[in-house]
Amino acid sequence: MKERHLKALVSGIAAVMLTAGIAMPAQAKQESYSSSKAAYKAVNQKAQKKLVSLKSARKSEGTADSSLRGPADPSYKMDVKYDAKTHKLTGKLNVSFKNNVKQNLSELYFNLWGRAADFKEKGGGMDVSNIRVNGKKAAFDVKETALHITNLSLPKNKKATVTMDFTVSFPEQQDRFGWYGDTVSMGNWFPILSVYDEEGWNVDPYFNAGESFYSLTGNFDVNVTTNRKQVIAATGTEQGKPKMDGELATHHYIAENVRDFAMEMNPTYKILSSKVNGVKVHVYYDDKYAKYAASLLESGKDSIKLFSKKFGKYPWPELDVVTMEGWFGGMEYPQLVMISLNENRKQEWVKSVNAHEIGHQWFYGIIGDNEYDEPWLDESFASFAAALYDNSLDELNVPPLSDPYYHISSKVSDFTARGNAGISAYYYTIYDYGSTALNDLRLELGDAAFYKAMKAYFKEKKFGISTTKDFISAMERSSKQDLSPFFRAHRIFPSDQN
Ligand SMILES: [Zn+2]
Repeated sequence: MKERHLKALVSGIAAVMLTAGIAMPAQAKQESYSSSKAAYKAVNQKAQKKLVSLKSARKSEGTADSSLRGPADPSYKMDVKYDAKTHKLTGKLNVSFKNNVKQNLSELYFNLWGRAADFKEKGGGMDVSNIRVNGKKAAFDVKETALHITNLSLPKNKKATVTMDFTVSFPEQQDRFGWYGDTVSMGNWFPILSVYDEEGWNVDPYFNAGESFYSLTGNFDVNVTTNRKQVIAATGTEQGKPKMDGELATHHYIAENVRDFAMEMNPTYKILSSKVNGVKVHVYYDDKYAKYAASLLESGKDSIKLFSKKFGKYPWPELDVVTMEGWFGGMEYPQLVMISLNENRKQEWVKSVNAHEIGHQWFYGIIGDNEYDEPWLDESFASFAAALYDNSLDELNVPPLSDPYYHISSKVSDFTARGNAGISAYYYTIYDYGSTALNDLRLELGDAAFYKAMKAYFKEKKFGISTTKDFISAMERSSKQDLSPFFRAHRIFPSDQN
């Protein structure tokens, strides 16, 4: 995601931090990487201790496996019907996966993001019923956004299938999940399998100012029935022409190797299309925002070309850029980015937001991460990618916050624990200081070695999940350098995810 006014917000942050008693060092702007090295020595020593102690704690447990993540290879089939008059969706979900987690797996979790408290007051919600596991009726309970299916005994390394009915009420709001005017934004709109990893099941709370999403890549086969006038942008590729039945039309989509499935609909959408590197790029816009369509297509194509060259090839056949009116700048989903517009947006700003969201196709989409535990692994990288597109890498030179509490590799909850000041610090640390750190790494290694290492990282993590530890390790192996002093000096600690 990209917040609304990055530059304005940053200067706003200084004010917020002052009122919150977090002072920005006056001469910090001039502070170089080497002088900050010394300044954070104390912090680093503390982090080192934490790392060592965690390692020994782990050893005694004896079961930790950092590469364990499941359930593996999810394959979703959905048949859904959306009524644009009531803003309600009803659907059937069928998801198959392999239990790679443990013998006699007794429980499963799904995230029901539509149940987040943020949506309730605006008419939003999500409910599930008739849950069956391998055809047998299953016991379950729902607590906030977590669906817990219990009393199972799934054999290890075998496939299992969960089916359920679900209903979704879209809230009236200008957001990634909701409807406003003629547009409906369908982000995080269906029950999605939670991830089991070395920490157990990940059912973190919804995070409105950013993301707490975490899912493994899989395949989707989705039938969407709605009014025939709706123009739909979706993850994946539409299969043939929609089937018409009176006022209704059923659209069929298939997506492969994606970790989510999003849609955006509006009956007045027009589509501007082109192709780059064999990838179809479609811009969905209505008359109100026609003046931005060409900029979005151009920056979309240029971003795919540039990031494919610098990081690794865009792997999907299609990308949809959809215009909407959100409170934010933009939002990323696999093969679909939402760009939030109003009539006052500058063309250059819109292009840069588009580059940020398309950067997420690489950092979130292709190389996944636990967005709640290590949000920097997608946001700092997308911000770096946007600066690369803007040709403004040299402008990435903000200092860290003087309060050593804030780390680039901190969890979302470390920031939200400090209220609004923490949210401001989140944007500053994860977007601005995080992208600065990546640019510092580029300067430290030199362009050739840096982008070579990024490509190695891409190859290693393509369609998988990365951690801070994995990123540091990929950079060190490719560059054949011990980069631990660099990462520590930039407050990037591999132990934070634990
Ligand atoms: Zn973002």
